[in-house]
Amino acid sequence: MYHICKKTCNKCGLIYICKTEQDPYRYEGSGKKWKEHNKLDNCGIDHHTEVLFSSDNKEKTMEFCTKYGKETNPYYWKTPEYANLIMEGGGYNMLGDANPNRKHGRAVGWKSDKSIQKENDRIRNADYHANNREVERARMRCLSYVKKGNYEKALENFNKWNPKYTTFQEYWNKYAPAERMSQID
Ligand SMILES: [Zn+2]
Repeated sequence: MYHICKKTCNKCGLIYICKTEQDPYRYEGSGKKWKEHNKLDNCGIDHHTEVLFSSDNKEKTMEFCTKYGKETNPYYWKTPEYANLIMEGGGYNMLGDANPNRKHGRAVGWKSDKSIQKENDRIRNADYHANNREVERARMRCLSYVKKGNYEKALENFNKWNPKYTTFQEYWNKYAPAERMSQID
């Protein structure tokens, strides 16, 4: 059985979309950025899991992933809320000939989609990783200042982090300790 899971860090809200054939609630996820995040002192492995899709059928799983990444939650991997560096395709991640998505030496399915292929190439670029580190630092600083109740510094870093799906106020209300909240009423 293939499971497509959405894992959300209980401490900072970082999200990771992943596929597993293991127990989806026990599987910790194997993405580079996600694993790095899980080593952070503030967070560790403390996340909850939502199973978005389950199937015995690999093609249906890959179809779900493509639809999810292009329609349901378009380009989630490009947004700083997600630890994904590329779209979870639901199939094999390797690009070699052993990849069953390759037929007659060419990638088929989502891997042959030019826009996604181009994006995947882009993220291998060193500049991207440099920029991403800055964003990641801003995200961590933002959370740290929110938890300290430093509204101004938190906002400054929030603006550098620039997440797409939450406003600063929502983020503050969600992660600031309750006793600090009264400061901004
Ligand atoms: Zn976290």
